[in-house]
Amino acid sequence: MDKSEILRKYFGYSSFRNGQEEIIDHILNGNDVLGIMPTGAGKSICYQVPALMMEGITLVISPLISLMKDQVEALCSSGIAAGYLNSSLSDAEYRTMLAKAYNGGFKIIYAAPERLMTQGFLNLANQIKISMITVDEAHCVSQWGQDFRPSYLKITEFVSALPYRPIISAFTATATSEVRDDITDILNLESPFVMTTGFDRPNLYFEVQSPKDKFSALLKIVNKNRDKCGIVYCISRKNVEEVCERLCRNGISASRYHAGLDDDERKHNQEDFIFDRKRVMVATNAFGMGIDKSDVSYVVHYNMPKNIESYYQEAGRAGRDGEPAECYLLYSGQDVRTNRFLIDNSEENDIDEQTRERVREKDLERLKYMTFYCRTSGCLREYILKYFGDSSQSYCGNCSSCNANFETRDITVDSQKILSCIYRMREINRSYGINMVIAVLRGSKSEKIKSQKLDKLSTYGIMSECSEKLCREIINYLIQNGYVTLTDSEYPVLMLNRKSREVLYEHKHLEIKILKENPTENSTATVSSEDSELFTKLRELRKKIADIESVPAYIVFSDASLRDMCIKKPKTKDDFLKVSGVGYMKLEKYGDRFLKVINANS
Ligand code: ADP
Ligand code: ZN
Repeated sequence: MDKSEILRKYFGYSSFRNGQEEIIDHILNGNDVLGIMPTGAGKSICYQVPALMMEGITLVISPLISLMKDQVEALCSSGIAAGYLNSSLSDAEYRTMLAKAYNGGFKIIYAAPERLMTQGFLNLANQIKISMITVDEAHCVSQWGQDFRPSYLKITEFVSALPYRPIISAFTATATSEVRDDITDILNLESPFVMTTGFDRPNLYFEVQSPKDKFSALLKIVNKNRDKCGIVYCISRKNVEEVCERLCRNGISASRYHAGLDDDERKHNQEDFIFDRKRVMVATNAFGMGIDKSDVSYVVHYNMPKNIESYYQEAGRAGRDGEPAECYLLYSGQDVRTNRFLIDNSEENDIDEQTRERVREKDLERLKYMTFYCRTSGCLREYILKYFGDSSQSYCGNCSSCNANFETRDITVDSQKILSCIYRMREINRSYGINMVIAVLRGSKSEKIKSQKLDKLSTYGIMSECSEKLCREIINYLIQNGYVTLTDSEYPVLMLNRKSREVLYEHKHLEIKILKENPTENSTATVSSEDSELFTKLRELRKKIADIESVPAYIVFSDASLRDMCIKKPKTKDDFLKVSGVGYMKLEKYGDRFLKVINANS
């Protein structure tokens, strides 16, 4: 069978996505590969398809136990012989799995990195043929990454302990060049084929809000998505507790997840969410890595996360099935202070003072970019993609900035006024932060201004006509584009720099896009009402089957597959096989039952 036939037969997909085919070809040619692809791009297919085509087995190393169980379940339900070895198994179960592995019972084995150097596992590895080692979430080997895991360093040790060297394929969604170099170096990839697919996730809608009352903003979003699943990320355990409780009090079916809960509750809550018993998961960033639920329709960040990498990874857990999904960030100035505090008080063991300082600087830098994201009035998608080094157009039409109907405003003169004011304030006294500069420009009558004689400046009140919001927006624009510097100190102040000259003396023409007064409502696509009736029935059937088989609903079929059934309305088994996500195993297991419902309703 060739790769396309495997893709169709086992996975039920008619074509490869961007990047998948090249990676598979290189693996089949015996090359190491490094795949850098955003969450939801379909990294698993890249190693699962060649795993089925090569002799011997593929060993997949993955950091989280929950991910393994999930992936293995999904593979088995598609008719692929897969198993896993990790600490969630009892001794007896572990021995059974090992025995099956010895006897050639698996094509794909998932293992935790901690397992690799154990005697039992080494014995196994020396007896069976491992054709490929796949390192999932490969950025875990890097200290510069988000989630450094010392146990990942055992992978190299393990490879050297083998009598031969298998192909190594590594995958991650994190792209910074330091991390990428680390992966190649630490895993000793041999002139790997590197595939970086675009980071864009066109089905995700991005929105930033700065609400006065975050909770009611959240409630509005959750209520709008009542019958769908969503994740709400909070910055602290305490926030998780509070938000979850308030949601429940408002009649929302919500659960919670953070590292302070005991193992049993965490496991229980996670399953409630995966099995659709609870619709909303309120969690810290401890939740999600390895959660493969493909039908999460929205992700809300109740607090601004610490950097764009984390944000895009967490927000990217929405819409993995390719369906339209929404990502909201509820921003407040307090979030910046909390994150600064966390950075200043982070407890990294095992690193020396100098490294610690470098990490801290890097973290602050990342936080700055995250903050700009929350304040920008430009296209949010463009901002993210540029951050990751992707080129992009400045209008995506699927983010709150783009949808809100902009108008362009010439800010040449206003910018001159702002920079002159900073200059004058510095002249008589010292440097000030954004709020004080705005207060002087707008002619504030506050005691603080008077006592420092700032009301005597020639620039006092020269922007009294300009709203505070607009003033702030222009200043943010000037900072982001380097015309003025905001220092990194505890109380950041504005300072002129060399580029300020262009505005002050060279009449540099500047404009920004600003929001119109009455932004239009964002509309999301929905299926037609008659289709939505069929969709509901298919979902009910899926739920029934999932309950009987005690697997999560999306393991039976994803929402995307159900929607495709509504569109294609297959009549025969052959038709059914053409539905996206239907392979031979699923046709056999579920075909009749789904066809019956579809035929009865069309
Ligand atoms: P990643 O690991 O990159 O985050 P996954 O491997 O979990 O992404 O894939 C995300 C979703 O996309 C899964 O539901 C998967 O079945 C689906 N998918 C992957 N490849 C294809 C394809 N070629 N056609 C259609 N769907 C695909
Ligand atoms: Zn946009």
